[in-house]
Amino acid sequence: MIINAAGCWSGLVNAPNCPPVQPVRGQMLALDSVSEDLGFVVHTPHAYIVPRRDGRIIVGSTTERVGFDKSNTAAGVKGLLSGAIQAIPRLESLPIKELWAGLRPGTPDGLPLLGPAQKSAIQNLLFATGHYRNGILLAPITAKVISDIIQGQPVPDFLKAYAPDRFRRQTFAS
Ligand SMILES: Cc1cc2nc3c(=O)[nH]c(=O)nc-3n(C[C@H](O)[C@H](O)[C@H](O)COP(=O)(O)OP(=O)(O)OC[C@H]3O[C@@H](n4cnc5c(N)ncnc54)[C@H](O)[C@@H]3O)c2cc1C
Repeated sequence: MIINAAGCWSGLVNAPNCPPVQPVRGQMLALDSVSEDLGFVVHTPHAYIVPRRDGRIIVGSTTERVGFDKSNTAAGVKGLLSGAIQAIPRLESLPIKELWAGLRPGTPDGLPLLGPAQKSAIQNLLFATGHYRNGILLAPITAKVISDIIQGQPVPDFLKAYAPDRFRRQTFAS
């Protein structure tokens, strides 16, 4: 068995028969909450704000299709800070502690690619990728279904919705 679990790089591994997985950048930042005890999570249309026990307040995140570029940009940081300060004005005085960005494995329909590739030239190729914004959340169920298949169990019916070959003729909308 070969398992393509290469995240946003999955589309490069099996070129030219690659699944349509593309990087979707997420910029984030952390405020130093030394003088601020937020105590709750806030979701707004422009940012989410998550207090952490280590004293940081995490503000996330952008969703940008800009290739394999993990930069933090002025516009990205501005958008996150504006959204956070609009929701909780007193955050504006907190120091910025960290900036970073990650690349999510995005698919055209936002759903993962899970299970066997039916039309691949490579035999016994499985995909476990394309989890987009939910790869941490979906790690346990992904591990369970993929390990069941490796051990010879039939592919469960519910995996049809996540069939890796469902995009054979589809490309990303801009
Ligand atoms: C800002 C941000 C916030 C997020 N928040 C959440 C959240 O709150 N909850 C949640 O569930 N998800 C969240 N996600 C999404 C989550 O991080 C991803 O869905 C998850 O990391 C995808 O896991 P993965 O193992 O498929 O890919 P990755 O974690 O990217 O791992 C892929 C691995 O494959 C390796 N690789 C690539 N090419 C090759 C190769 N040719 N050979 C060998 N190895 C290779 C890479 O080095 C990497 O280690 C967030 C993502 C971002 C960017």
